[in-house]
Amino acid sequence: MKLEPYWLDTAPPFTDGEQGPLEGTADVAIIGGGFTGLSAALAAVRKGASVVVLEAEAIGSKASGRNGGHVNNGMAHSFVAVAAKHGVDRARELYQAFDAAVDTVERIVREEKIDCDFRRAGKVKLAAKPAHFASIAKNYEMISREVDPDTQLLFKDDIRNEVGTDRFFGGMLQRRSAMMHMGKFSRGLASAAARSGARIFENACVTKLEKQAGSGFRITTPRGHLTASQVLVATGGNTEGPFGYFRRRFVPIGAFVIATEPLAPAIAARIMPGNRTVTTSRNLVNFFRLSPDNRLIYGGRARFALSSPRSDAKSGVILQRSMLDVFPQLTGISIDYCWGGLIDMTADRFPHTGFASV
Ligand SMILES: Cc1cc2nc3c(=O)[nH]c(=O)nc-3n(C[C@H](O)[C@H](O)[C@H](O)COP(=O)(O)OP(=O)(O)OC[C@H]3O[C@@H](n4cnc5c(N)ncnc54)[C@H](O)[C@@H]3O)c2cc1C
Repeated sequence: MKLEPYWLDTAPPFTDGEQGPLEGTADVAIIGGGFTGLSAALAAVRKGASVVVLEAEAIGSKASGRNGGHVNNGMAHSFVAVAAKHGVDRARELYQAFDAAVDTVERIVREEKIDCDFRRAGKVKLAAKPAHFASIAKNYEMISREVDPDTQLLFKDDIRNEVGTDRFFGGMLQRRSAMMHMGKFSRGLASAAARSGARIFENACVTKLEKQAGSGFRITTPRGHLTASQVLVATGGNTEGPFGYFRRRFVPIGAFVIATEPLAPAIAARIMPGNRTVTTSRNLVNFFRLSPDNRLIYGGRARFALSSPRSDAKSGVILQRSMLDVFPQLTGISIDYCWGGLIDMTADRFPHTGFASV
C-alpha cells in the first residue's frame, strides 16, 4: 500500500515551474499553489496582471491533491438551517454560489482543455439513520421548491439503483455535482496559468512578508526575494510561515482517504450502479466514488487526528472497516493507496475571504 494520494501518483508531472532564482517584481504575488492560489493566478493573468505563484512544496501537494475527488454543489449546512438563520433569499444566494463554483471549474476545464476526467455525475447524500432521512426529506422539500427543482428525494428502495448496499435509509440526489481527477486538475490548472504568463515557483516557502515604505511588499523565500504590489495569501489549512492572522481564522482538521485496487467492472457496477459522488449523514462523515480506473475511493474524518504518514495509516484501517461495513462484497479487495490531509474549517463552516494589514 502506498501512503500517498492516488491523485498525485497517477497524474502527469507539472513541468512548467520556474527553474531560476526568485527575483524582480510582480503586480500580484500569490502564496500557495493549491486550487485557490492557482485559479486566482489564472484569473489575474487573464486580466493582464503580472503574477508570481509561490508554493512551499509541489503544486497541488496539500489539500488540493489529497482530497476525495468530489466537485459537489450544496452547502455544508442544510438549506433549512441557513434559511432559518439568514432568510430564504440569502440561503438561495449562498446555495447558488456553490452551484456557480462547480460551473466555474467546468468552464476552466473546458476553456483550458484540462484533461482531468471532469464529469457531471451528480451527488447522492445518504441517510445513515431513519431520523437523518426525515431531515434530508425536509431539506429536499425546501431546496427543490426554493432553488434547485432538479433535486430528487430517494427512498430506501431507490438507493439500490445508486449504491449497492442496504445500510442506508434513503437520501437525496443533487444532479449539478461533478467529479474529477484532482491531481490532473491541479497540475493542469498550474500549466494553464503558466501558459497564460504566471511564473510559478515550487519549493518556495514564504518565510517573511514585509510591507515596504510607500507601497508594495517584499517577500522572502529560500529561492530568493520578490517585490509585489499586492499579495494573495492562499495557503489553506496547511499554512506555514508568517501568517498568524490567517491561521487564527480557521481550525485545521484531519481527513483521510483510501483507494482500493482497480475493481472488476462487474463488481464496480454492483457497488456503485449510479456512479456518482456519495456522502453520508454520519457524524464522522464518509464520502466515496469510483476512480476512472474503477477503484473505490473511500474517505472520511475517521478519527480526530491530524494527518501524518502514521496517522494516515491508522485512519486507513478505520476507513477500511467502515468501507466493508457498507460494502461487505469488497472483503479480500486490497487497499492500494492511503492518505490524509487538512481541511481548513471556519467557525461558521462557510468559505471566507478578506483583507488583512501586515
Ligand atoms: C482528505 C480531504 C478530502 C477532501 N475532499 C474534498 C472533496 O472531495 N471535494 C472538495 O471540494 N473538497 C475536498 N476537500 C477540501 C479541498 O481539498 C480544499 O478545500 C481545497 O483543496 C483547498 O485548496 P487551497 O488551495 O485553499 O489549499 P491547499 O490545496 O492546501 O493549498 C495551499 C498551498 O499553500 C502552500 N503553503 C502553505 N504555506 C505556505 C507558505 N508559507 N509559502 C508558500 N506556500 C505555502 C501549501 O504547501 C499548499 O500547497 C478535502 C480535503 C481533504 C484534506
